[in-house]
Amino acid sequence: MQSFARRCKQRGQRIAFVPTMGALHEGHLSLIRRARRAADVVVVSVYVNPTQFGPREDLAAYPRTLRKDAAACRRLGADVLFAPPSLYARDHSTWVEESHLSLGRCGASRPGHFRGVATIVAKLFNIILPDVAVFGQKDAQQCDVIRRMVRDLDFPLRIVVAPTVREADGLAMSSRNRYLTPAERARAPLFHRALVAAARLGPRRAAAAARSLLKRQGFRIDHAELVNGRLCAAIFLGKTRLIDNVAVAMRAPRPRDHRRDLDESVT
Ligand code: AMP
Repeated sequence: MQSFARRCKQRGQRIAFVPTMGALHEGHLSLIRRARRAADVVVVSVYVNPTQFGPREDLAAYPRTLRKDAAACRRLGADVLFAPPSLYARDHSTWVEESHLSLGRCGASRPGHFRGVATIVAKLFNIILPDVAVFGQKDAQQCDVIRRMVRDLDFPLRIVVAPTVREADGLAMSSRNRYLTPAERARAPLFHRALVAAARLGPRRAAAAARSLLKRQGFRIDHAELVNGRLCAAIFLGKTRLIDNVAVAMRAPRPRDHRRDLDESVT
């Protein structure tokens, strides 16, 4: 892969890279289309990175659909699908650890997760030598951690963040949505609707409103916080952990509208 990337560079071609863990859905495909617009050569990686899973998480159960993924990549005009069986030496002992932005939210409930993410993304950047790498807004904290790593460690590339792709009912697409039972799937869109309703209340009230709405709907909340103008949250639906984030209106509506706004948009 690395020699292919070097040859592309010698020919003056620019490389755009989309890292994924496979089980590709429309969200991933939108990143590939975005990458297609950004460079001459598009590389997609499919690698279920073991070091970003906790010991009690779903590494073994994570969906693997490589044949279908390859067909989708081909259809969208990706040039290379990089799907190595393993990327770690047996005695791998070097880690990339972002030590500030990784701490809260998903980092707090998934210790070691962002160390695994930063390490694999750094390795992939060194193998694929991209000029541009495309990530999804759905994983907002991941975007922040990767941007910081690229800045702090002087990776010579540009990060592009593409908008979250949703199902018709608002649920953010995710490879993990397939874990949901039909009953859970039916309730899942309420998560996004609650975030949208709470975000309308403006930066001062959004996080508390989201927590109270989600609790009222019976979701187990992992976190709901305002970060850089976005309302970011994670919930558990049965055993499945879902994340999402939406932009928060910079100006809150007039106070007497609050209660009505909230109730209307979630019932
Ligand atoms: P994953 O395969 O879950 O590791 O995700 C690979 C990339 O796809 C990451 O940059 C994600 O943020 C992005 N992604 C996942 N779901 C979506 C979505 N619904 N919309 C846009 N990007 C997404």
